[in-house]
Amino acid sequence: MSSHLGGEGFSKFSIHKDAQEMLRVAQDEHIQTAWDRLAEQEPQCGYCTLGLSCRICAMGPCRIDPFGEGPQKGVCGADADIIVARNLARMIAAGASAHSDHGRDILEVLHETAKGDTTAYEITDVEKLKRLAKEYGVKVDHRKANEIAKDLAWEMMEDYGTRKNSVTFVGRAPKARRDLWAKLGITPRGIDRENVETLHRTHMGVDNDYVNILLHALRTSLSDGWGGSMIATELSDVLFGTPKPIRSEINLGVLRTDEVNIALHGHNPVLSDVIVRAAQDPKLLKLARDKGAKGINLVGLCCTGNELLMRRGIHMAGNHLMQELVITTGALEMMIVDYQCIMPSVTDVAKCFHTKVVSTADKAKFPGATHVSFDPRRGMEIGHDLVRSAIENYPNRIVERVRIPDKPMEMMGGFSVEAILAALGGTPAPLVEAIAKGQIRGAVGVVGCNNPKIRQDYGHVTLTRRLIENDVLVVVTGCAAVANGKAGQMKPESADMAGPGLKAVCKALGIPPVLHMGSCVDNVRILVLAAALADHLGVDIDALPLAGAAPEWYSEKALSIGAYVVASGIYTVVGVQPPIFGSPNVVNLLAGGLENVVGACFAVEPDPEKAAVLIRRHIEKKRKGLKLPFVDPDTIAMPSASA
Ligand code: SF4
Ligand code: SF4
Repeated sequence: MSSHLGGEGFSKFSIHKDAQEMLRVAQDEHIQTAWDRLAEQEPQCGYCTLGLSCRICAMGPCRIDPFGEGPQKGVCGADADIIVARNLARMIAAGASAHSDHGRDILEVLHETAKGDTTAYEITDVEKLKRLAKEYGVKVDHRKANEIAKDLAWEMMEDYGTRKNSVTFVGRAPKARRDLWAKLGITPRGIDRENVETLHRTHMGVDNDYVNILLHALRTSLSDGWGGSMIATELSDVLFGTPKPIRSEINLGVLRTDEVNIALHGHNPVLSDVIVRAAQDPKLLKLARDKGAKGINLVGLCCTGNELLMRRGIHMAGNHLMQELVITTGALEMMIVDYQCIMPSVTDVAKCFHTKVVSTADKAKFPGATHVSFDPRRGMEIGHDLVRSAIENYPNRIVERVRIPDKPMEMMGGFSVEAILAALGGTPAPLVEAIAKGQIRGAVGVVGCNNPKIRQDYGHVTLTRRLIENDVLVVVTGCAAVANGKAGQMKPESADMAGPGLKAVCKALGIPPVLHMGSCVDNVRILVLAAALADHLGVDIDALPLAGAAPEWYSEKALSIGAYVVASGIYTVVGVQPPIFGSPNVVNLLAGGLENVVGACFAVEPDPEKAAVLIRRHIEKKRKGLKLPFVDPDTIAMPSASA
């Protein structure tokens, strides 16, 4: 850790004890982390921060002077509006592509499973498979699950192409919303198609109308939210089971001093699921004992971790900014990675310890890692080999260097839409009733990443706490879920932290006030729940007292999520400034004008205390619109300064 450490100590970088302790170790042992590299990068480029630099073609790179004194146009003549809109559209397309390609990978495994090309997987949730098949017009009567799955997979592959006028899951949105998208010309037609069209439109000399570019960016994001991510989530449920409430533990304290520790990092549950089964193999457990370990301890990181926690209760080591620090414990035999959000630096940190980093996706290789090409057709064999290799690394652990900070925190996860409806008695009616009575003011999705520019987890935890204290139900995914779990806000007993109305509802149902809905692709569960609430009330989604927030986002995927959430009619507050402030026109459209187009817009508010007030005011405004008891939004005071 470098010399930028001030008097506040490591609490300046993270609110959590486990991170603070490991940052101290990193400093003592001269191990570089993301925080160090951020300090080395500062000051970061002002043009890029504002979205005003363009390197799309070889006449550039070009920059627009934000002060109006230097160049106002790139070599091709593109102005600030065009450059900012093109850059943002490309970021959204990259995020949408990441989610959707993940969905395609799961889809291909379903297809191989259905064809009998792999025995590593089976169709776990047959009922969900049949429901999905009906949505896609696939016959289910008197057919075996694998026959249905084969046809369903084939139909879903068509959603990626260009033959359709609309991706199939768009049919899940309320009719009013579908009609609005059709009127605006932003109904997503094909998942790949919208992403390819974004790249085409943002080539030099194609789309030069910033509004037109951004409308297509929304369409692209919708192909993610109601397309690729939705396929990923639904098929993961079909293959690995639809999550139900489950207890787990969280923070670096889940590592064990006397067991072989294996961390599963990334996003795709296809590999990690076989690792979980391999780790239960009696022969491998015996091998672990022979090597001096008491067992094999799997822990999750980021969204692969969330997938495992949601379905199997596998303990969670941490979120995005913990990926280097988990290695710094000296207790990790192996980190197995698939793709997305895996810092290339993990192999540098691993070199300082005995930890092996194994990459497994041919589309995601890492210098310094051992690459084992994961082929689902040989899934169990590869899973066994990896676990065996981790066990064989156990004797290389240097006991004196092992530092496992903190005791694990308990938490509850597993709140799929199906699980939430089951808790409510099979219908959204009790939730709607609690909202109508004002016991619950509304619901908010707090989602997204960590970013070393923000004190780790401060944004997630503070915003969530202020919302539940004010009777707003919070649903969480991704790294935001991990942050809240570590803060102890996701136990049924955490209902005591909530305001009186939410607390009473949570106690009656035995649920926490902060519901873990899964990984980042699982944000689509929030869309499905929102659509169910809207349909129940006979209104469009934008009429509901809902909001989204991404207090610590870093990823292009988070931008795609934010865009599809807003395009679906949900107001969204982001905590990290997106690179748009070089164009006042783009800012005005995204933070205001979109309200008149899709019924929702973005706000940027880095202070979670203030973001909580913005969201509470928005919720009361929507309550008023629905003629529910409401508080005058202007009476909710805005705090003057951040904590
Ligand atoms: S597209 Fe235009 S603004 Fe961008 S690099 Fe090329 S010439 Fe410059
Ligand atoms: S929340 Fe962000 S950092 Fe965390 S796994 Fe998802 S995209 Fe990656």
